[in-house]
Amino acid sequence: MSRSGAQDTLAGRLQDLRARLPEGTHLLAVSKGQPAAAIREAVALGQRSFGESRLQEAIAKQSELADLQPLDWHFIGRLQANKARGIVRHFGTIHSLDSLELARRLDRIAAEEGRSPAVLLQVKLRDDPAKTGFAPEALRAAMPELRDLPAIRLVGLMTILPLGLESAERRAAFQACSALAAELGLPELSMGMSGDWPEAAAAGSTWVRLGTALFGSRPPAAPGTAVVTAPG
Ligand SMILES: *Cc1c(COP(=O)(O)O)cnc(C)c1O
Repeated sequence: MSRSGAQDTLAGRLQDLRARLPEGTHLLAVSKGQPAAAIREAVALGQRSFGESRLQEAIAKQSELADLQPLDWHFIGRLQANKARGIVRHFGTIHSLDSLELARRLDRIAAEEGRSPAVLLQVKLRDDPAKTGFAPEALRAAMPELRDLPAIRLVGLMTILPLGLESAERRAAFQACSALAAELGLPELSMGMSGDWPEAAAAGSTWVRLGTALFGSRPPAAPGTAVVTAPG
């Protein structure tokens, strides 16, 4: 009965986003901070790819959702060396590989676990002390060794822009990332969040990572995870 109608429900927001995303740009539903019930609702609406940034939280929700058809889980958080094995076991795609040292470790663990995760390399296009990632030059230098790691599949680049850029600056940064991926022959581009996805999609993003634009606001990140269980 509200004025904005469809925007008030997950179904409405999902439908609206699907209509606006260009062909070739996939929606990664960022479900961090959301209960398993919200994921279940999105699955019922046809969404299958979900992004999580905390391992323990993801494991808890994955087990709550074990009755569903296998979902497509993407790890988008800071990759910590001591969590690498759990991440390899619980995610098919990793968006946030940000150093050669971690790549070697991930490769060794993936081989031990008999898995071959799809990996995107996080790049830092602008100075941002709050973000990790390969600078473009460092990435070019690391590529020969990265390509030789047998157990991880390098599929693309991922970037997170600093806050506070003008739209034109965001567009330019996303285009630079897109050009770098093309130069390196990597097909996937994980770019764009709730606040900047239209520019990312225009620059060729293949995965926009949307949390609040889809699920609404989430509680602030906390070390523990309270997962609310839906009845039924
Ligand atoms: C939380 C998060 C997102 C989603 O952010 P929203 O602004 O809620 O869309 C996307 N990417 C990464 C890496 C994140 O940590």
